[in-house]
Amino acid sequence: MKKFAISTLGCKVNQYESALITESLAKSGYRQVDFTGQADIYIVNTCTVTAKASYQSRQLLRRSLRLNPHSIIAAVGCYPEVEADKIASMGIATHILGNLEKLNIVRYLELPGSLREPLVKVSMTKSTSSLELFPLEKFPGRTRAFLKIQDGCNTFCTYCIVPHTRGKSRSLKRRDVLIQIEHFIARGFKEIVLTGIHLGKWGEDLTPTESLSSLLEEILISFPGCRFRISSIEPPELTEAILTLMAEHDNFCKHLHVPLQSGSDEILRRMHRPYTAGYYLELFRRAHDMVPELAWGLDVIVGFPGESEDLFSETYELLKDLPLAYMHVFPFSPRNHTPAVHFPGQVPAKQKKRRAAILRELSNVKRKEFLSRFLGKILHVLVEGKFSEDKNYFQGLSSNYIRVYFKRGKAEENSIVRVIAEKLFENGLLGKVVG
Ligand code: SF4
Repeated sequence: MKKFAISTLGCKVNQYESALITESLAKSGYRQVDFTGQADIYIVNTCTVTAKASYQSRQLLRRSLRLNPHSIIAAVGCYPEVEADKIASMGIATHILGNLEKLNIVRYLELPGSLREPLVKVSMTKSTSSLELFPLEKFPGRTRAFLKIQDGCNTFCTYCIVPHTRGKSRSLKRRDVLIQIEHFIARGFKEIVLTGIHLGKWGEDLTPTESLSSLLEEILISFPGCRFRISSIEPPELTEAILTLMAEHDNFCKHLHVPLQSGSDEILRRMHRPYTAGYYLELFRRAHDMVPELAWGLDVIVGFPGESEDLFSETYELLKDLPLAYMHVFPFSPRNHTPAVHFPGQVPAKQKKRRAAILRELSNVKRKEFLSRFLGKILHVLVEGKFSEDKNYFQGLSSNYIRVYFKRGKAEENSIVRVIAEKLFENGLLGKVVG
């Protein structure tokens, strides 16, 4: 029985696709081993959203080569979509597969490929206009599963490589979404995270067109025993209808990740982002009025071309007063194929680093303030299992995305318990199970 190991970089969509790859190999008789061990096949499900992600992808390919120089080494996903030739010339992969091909990996691994002459199969994901359901039986872990309901993006923000790696926006049909949810629920999952590259565009390419809010409504009503979370959603697509569903349904997790990218209207315009800082602020306030316990996280890019100290201050000033749950801070990373590479006013690396450090520090403060707001409050926690540092303690995730630790007591794995939060602990909260 051949052994394979897989490592995944990047977003939740990639994690979902790695679960598909893993399952297809297991069904074909391959056995999974740890990525640090000896395997016959190493698969790196790559990311290229920043230069660092591409670098990490190459590092993992090189590590595979060191672990077993005679193995099959497959570089798959977004990085090959834009730099297959470069990967091929480096002699670090025997098989180089794009985002479509990686979902049929078993077939391609049977074809010959070597470090000198790798098999390169990257059909233009760009030309694909529909999304097929690959039914998934299992998902790593036992409590929370991801489900990709949308792929691709048509927006072409000026810094973003993703439309080039993922192609046009396309949606999984409603019926297929419901089928996969039923599968996961039948296998005992208590939380399903609906993911996509541009999730808010779900349904726009279907005939007749549909909306994400109408899909969510059907899901929330049809599966009351399971809770649902949505991954990143763009500000213009976070509609009143979605917020109303979140306010009205207990099984809609009180967590939103809404990329801001910049608090300066001038920079947002250059980024080709279709909203203003004022719009974002209003949306934030409206969402918190409707869902007070909401965890709101965001992405922000610092050092975009043309970002002066004054424009950076506009971002800082906007964020300073928001009760955020967390921030993901990214120094601008110029990507080939995107217009921003050629924009004037490129910001020196040192400045980007300094601005990122300032926002990350602010993020730490925000995080503590957010967690402190829930001291003495009851959180609904999906129990994941033991806390590795102390076997007498369990840990889980609250509806509003807080990691919560508590004495095991009678709490069962994969159940939802009520925990009263008592103190800040390990970037989360420590509490006691009640009721
Ligand atoms: S909306 Fe913009 S940032 Fe998001 S994937 Fe599309 S192009 Fe990239």
